[in-house]
Amino acid sequence: MRLFNTYSGKKEEFVPINPGEVRMYTCGPTVYNYIHVGNARPMIMFDVLRRYLIYKGYKVTFVQNFTDVDDKIIRRANEEGISCEEVAEKYIEEYFKDADALGVRRADIHPKATENIPQIIDMVSTLVDKGFAYVAGQDVYFRTRAFKNYGNLSHQPLDELEAGARVEVNDIKESPMDFALWKGSKPGEPSWESPWGPGRPGWHIECSAMSNRYLGKTIDIHCGGQDLIFPHHENEIAQSECANGCKFVNYWLHNGFLNIDNKKMSKSLNNFFTVREAAEKFGYEALRYFMLSAAYRSPLNYSADSLTQAGAALERLYTLKKTVSFLKENGEEGPMSPAEEKCLEELGAYRQAFEDAMEDDMNTADALSAVFDMVRRINTALAGRPTKLFAGECLKRFLELTDVLGLLYNDSEESLDEKVEKLIADRQAARKSRDFALADRIRDELKEMGIILEDTPQGVKWRKA
Ligand code: AMP
Ligand code: ZN
Repeated sequence: MRLFNTYSGKKEEFVPINPGEVRMYTCGPTVYNYIHVGNARPMIMFDVLRRYLIYKGYKVTFVQNFTDVDDKIIRRANEEGISCEEVAEKYIEEYFKDADALGVRRADIHPKATENIPQIIDMVSTLVDKGFAYVAGQDVYFRTRAFKNYGNLSHQPLDELEAGARVEVNDIKESPMDFALWKGSKPGEPSWESPWGPGRPGWHIECSAMSNRYLGKTIDIHCGGQDLIFPHHENEIAQSECANGCKFVNYWLHNGFLNIDNKKMSKSLNNFFTVREAAEKFGYEALRYFMLSAAYRSPLNYSADSLTQAGAALERLYTLKKTVSFLKENGEEGPMSPAEEKCLEELGAYRQAFEDAMEDDMNTADALSAVFDMVRRINTALAGRPTKLFAGECLKRFLELTDVLGLLYNDSEESLDEKVEKLIADRQAARKSRDFALADRIRDELKEMGIILEDTPQGVKWRKA
């Protein structure tokens, strides 16, 4: 698989450190508010990367943190008159509601910054001892000048960064590019004892400490949105490489922005929709489908039209799933026909096209096209009197690909299916026992649910009106 590595600025062949294993870290949300649709993009896209690596047979360990101490959380806690822990707990719970509904699998580990204070203090101490950090007042800062590779990820030389940096009045830092590893706490803020007095960690250090604790000094893949390249990921590299004396990350992956009217969707521009607002209108799964409709590095524009289209395309996939599942139970008995066998062989080509797209820096847009080519081919093959066996094989091949994309997980569709199937079976039984009044009542009930029945050679089929 080839992945675009921000560090080298090129697509590179992916080779994990240990054969057959992948260690992946994604920067998670600061939990002070509901997530917006832009935040859902890295969640969904890197969930697909994880699923694809598992599909390829890797054992993947995936870590995603929660930033649960930070200025925004403190502000929110003060506004609401509750503690920072309460704010964080509430929004972690809300995060999982959205993530689960978007079909984003939970990480193997979801560490919190506040559960890693000793590890953070250890790393800061090491940096101070090695001369990469210094104490100023109650704070500890990273000495960017001491790290010769600073700026390599964002491809900006330190001199240029320094020249462009804003110098704060009364700045206690040696250089404007130095950043806080540890902040002395002000009254009313959460704080922990440390060799530098009571304080709390800076934002960047938590990811270095947690990645180190849960995945080791050098990891395979680190992901996040493009806005994290600088300064967050640049600073993570500086901290980890100076503390550990070795390379931090082999592949840096960054998703492009989700835009609205061609501007990045963000809280600060106040041009955002929360995931649940969007999901209420279009459905969570349509939102997921919409994200997959573009390769993860391209910009993607949010619009009601695109979401509606995503919902319609998704519906076509559900229709195929339903049709083929029905035929798997109700198709012809016996072995597959030669035409069916030939069709199954051809389906291999669509799977190959799907994989080729995914191998090319995870091009989910092309991967989806391959799925639709497969759908069209299956649909033509179903025109005659397909066998159960053939339908079962088609279903397996189709769902294998949609599972990698994390689509068609919607249980309410399933439970609707089950409910309708049961009512149809009851109606058939009523007709068989000549209880036509009951059969009619069931037909009316189905009609009220918006279900239309159709008699086919394979039995009764149904569709939504
Ligand atoms: P934040 O809460 O701003 O730290 O963002 C959490 C994650 O969402 C980070 O990986 C960001 O890079 C990502 N993100 C935020 N806004 C957008 C956006 N408009 N498009 C894509 N990714 C975004
Ligand atoms: Zn991070």
